[in-house]
Amino acid sequence: MSLDKYKQINLTFAYQMSSIIKESINIDYEYYTKGFVLEIIEKNKLLLVKFSKFTILHFYIEKEIWNKLNYETSHYMKEHECEIAIEKLYNIVDLYNPLFYKEIDVFDLLEQENQEDSEESYLNLCNSIIDILYQEIEKYMPNMVEDVFYVLFQDREFLLEFNLMLSNIISEIKYEDESEIMRKDGVLKRCSYFPKWLKEGIFFRDKGRCQKCNTNLTGTITMGTNYNWDHIVPLSLGGINDATNIQLLCEKCNKIKSDKEIYTSNKYFRFW
Ligand SMILES: [Zn+2]
Repeated sequence: MSLDKYKQINLTFAYQMSSIIKESINIDYEYYTKGFVLEIIEKNKLLLVKFSKFTILHFYIEKEIWNKLNYETSHYMKEHECEIAIEKLYNIVDLYNPLFYKEIDVFDLLEQENQEDSEESYLNLCNSIIDILYQEIEKYMPNMVEDVFYVLFQDREFLLEFNLMLSNIISEIKYEDESEIMRKDGVLKRCSYFPKWLKEGIFFRDKGRCQKCNTNLTGTITMGTNYNWDHIVPLSLGGINDATNIQLLCEKCNKIKSDKEIYTSNKYFRFW
């Protein structure tokens, strides 16, 4: 196992952001989702037909983090509450770089400038502090995205909702427009190659058990149990070839599950 897989996770940020993201997909922003899918296609359409470690959900998380920060910052700036805008950004920076205050003591700077009593220079200072905080957040963005992904990837019911949201838009894509990724019948092309990292990751998350009948597929206490990598939202219903749309099923359950059935569960074993 490579060492970079073993890392510290910032659960405070991950849980906060995860719940915001879960809410974001419950609201039916069709134009928003559509814009997101079209952006992915524009950036790298092969992402929909080929498994990538940087999944569609990673893109979505990153976009949502920036959305949240931009929304909050502009909201407080409009209300002339630039200290609150700064504090909100600072709190996030502090989670990822607790020594940041040693580099720049933003609150001390604000206090000094405030005494000089010129509104314009105070506002300028606020804006430049916000810029600095944004740059700092950008540095830690890959870690932030990964932490949120860690939490959301274990929530299979969320993954089902997320992929369903995407499937509404994928189903509208026509072969004539995107022949590189679509089949003539309007279904996304199937990626027949499941990379090792993907198989290992799914097996690990699903604890080596069929997500439908709970059969132990680890091969340590039972033999002769074959397993399959199942698309949670089938390709025929607009599902995509993305790690977030894959789960572990035993061969029997996979055969029974038709290509029109959408199923997963959030069942886990109690610790005791
Ligand atoms: Zn099964």
